[in-house]
Amino acid sequence: MIRTPAGFNPALNLELHDDAIAHVFVRDAMVLFSDSPGALPWRFYRGEGLRAARFHGIGEHEGRQHVAVALDDDISPRSLPPGLKASNLRSWFGVIDDATLAIAMRAVQVLEWDRTHRFCGACGTRTEQADNERAKRCPACNLTVYPRISPAMMVLVTRGRELLLGRGVNFPPGRYSALAGFLEAGETIEEAVIREVREEVNVEVTNLRYFGSQSWPFPNSLMIAFQAEYAGGDMRHDPAELADAQWFTPENLPQLPPPLSIARALLDATLAELR
Ligand SMILES: [Zn+2]
Repeated sequence: MIRTPAGFNPALNLELHDDAIAHVFVRDAMVLFSDSPGALPWRFYRGEGLRAARFHGIGEHEGRQHVAVALDDDISPRSLPPGLKASNLRSWFGVIDDATLAIAMRAVQVLEWDRTHRFCGACGTRTEQADNERAKRCPACNLTVYPRISPAMMVLVTRGRELLLGRGVNFPPGRYSALAGFLEAGETIEEAVIREVREEVNVEVTNLRYFGSQSWPFPNSLMIAFQAEYAGGDMRHDPAELADAQWFTPENLPQLPPPLSIARALLDATLAELR
């Protein structure tokens, strides 16, 4: 499961040294060396004369500074200098090291928030970056906006030794996972778990147990994961939400989500308990 590396210190305003690490994005695609994928050294980034639209300090880790850079919106991933390649951050999972990936996941969220809050949502004036906090302010009406984080619940429901897994309508063929869904305004996370399971598969749950959480920057989710026990209901999935849902035993599992996701960590931990 991807999490912030130990010893990482968030920071906004960095005086950049040449050995700083640049997390460079073209829209949601991360730019890396095509032959040895790793984050770009800041000196290389500057030497290539790439035009940046937005910069944000992200923090420091193991003595090196990390900065998020969004290239100009009119640069396409195909027009990068030779030796560089841009792909959606998900495609770099397992290719770049987990610590760099975790910091890149922060960087892309900050850049996307910046890109989508250039103007005040109340009065339309161009916003300004606040000096000493991660915020954008409207100079006309003083509206302040912080990076948007959207909480979502994930729950793995068990019935004895069986697991309730669903297939999202956009999942790769054969893949199943724990159920998940976004909170509604005014809900607690526990209420969201109970409501989503009821809506998606017509099942009641009890004995919710908190498992853990993971930032998921596609584009700005915080996945909050639980285990729960079946308490009643005839399971039938809502076809608007799920392509399928079934009870599985540990001996008869479908294709599961890839490593590094909290969904897989939740499944592996629960399966270890059942075995
Ligand atoms: Zn305003």
